Amino acid sequence: MAKIIDGKLIAGEVRARIADEAAALAKCGVVPGLAVIIVGDDAASQVYVRNKHKACAEAGFYSEVIQMPRETTENELLCKIESLAEDGKIDGILVQLPLPEHIDEKKVTAAIPPEKDVDAFHLENTGRIMTGDYRYLPCTPAGIMTMLRHEKIDVAGKECVVIGRSNIVGKPMAMMLLNENGTVTVCHSKTKNLAEVTRRADILVVAVGKAGFVTADMVKEGAVVIDVGINRGEDGKLHGDVDFEGVKDVASAITPVPGGVGPMTITTLLENTLAAAKRRAER
Ligand code: NAD
Repeated sequence: MAKIIDGKLIAGEVRARIADEAAALAKCGVVPGLAVIIVGDDAASQVYVRNKHKACAEAGFYSEVIQMPRETTENELLCKIESLAEDGKIDGILVQLPLPEHIDEKKVTAAIPPEKDVDAFHLENTGRIMTGDYRYLPCTPAGIMTMLRHEKIDVAGKECVVIGRSNIVGKPMAMMLLNENGTVTVCHSKTKNLAEVTRRADILVVAVGKAGFVTADMVKEGAVVIDVGINRGEDGKLHGDVDFEGVKDVASAITPVPGGVGPMTITTLLENTLAAAKRRAER
């Protein structure tokens, strides 16, 4: 039976360290500040934003949630970003995605100054991932790297397989594993003989968005399996992309859903915001 990697526990440890560092910074007059903009009333987004706000408060950060109506124009949103860009108490700006269709996501991402882009979606920060010269790392894959380090799972020389090639999870995940000297394969919806590829993996990261997609026969004995998926089942519960019950008997370590990767994502957001505040303190 695999070791269950407890994301809640790891996130708690990292957040306690972040809160200590934030308290020390506050004594020097710099309180880390995060602004989260949400446009519209998407229910899932509202929950994510509330969780970010709560996590900030627990870490001793200043945080602002800017709720804008669905009818907000692109220009109004860009103006709001501009004012936050100039706001001295705000270190990080995050625009909750998805945005309503009439707003161009690329334009909005480009409008956030790269040094306040704590989601690491701006093209400048995305490019830095390619060279390994990071400012901020995208929250979900960076949270996974923190988990692997915490569990003392060395990536160097390992066969790493990532299923999914999205800009926010799959692609940056592959780059980060590569930067840690993994031998990396990225699979996607057009990959042939998927199970043959995944069975080679020492470390398998699954970010597909289909409940129970990876089954035990797709996993090598002793592999580390990281489940990024969040799928709301008909039972109303959250399910991962991995068939946990089957795979836990084959893998050496596995992340559960919920309580695995999820808590690490907001933790990295706090880390990025703290890093931005430290930079402000140095100026
Ligand atoms: P996405 O829809 O942008 O990408 C899904 C990827 O899966 C695509 O690259 C696609 O090629 C691949 N795919 C689809 N069908 C496939 C198949 N049959 N075989 C192989 N590959 C296939 O999704 P995303 O934004 O990367 O998110 C993936 C999952 O992770 C979702 O469930 C999402 O909710 C979850 N997620 C969780 C967190 C977290 O904090 N835990 C953060 C982001 C996303």
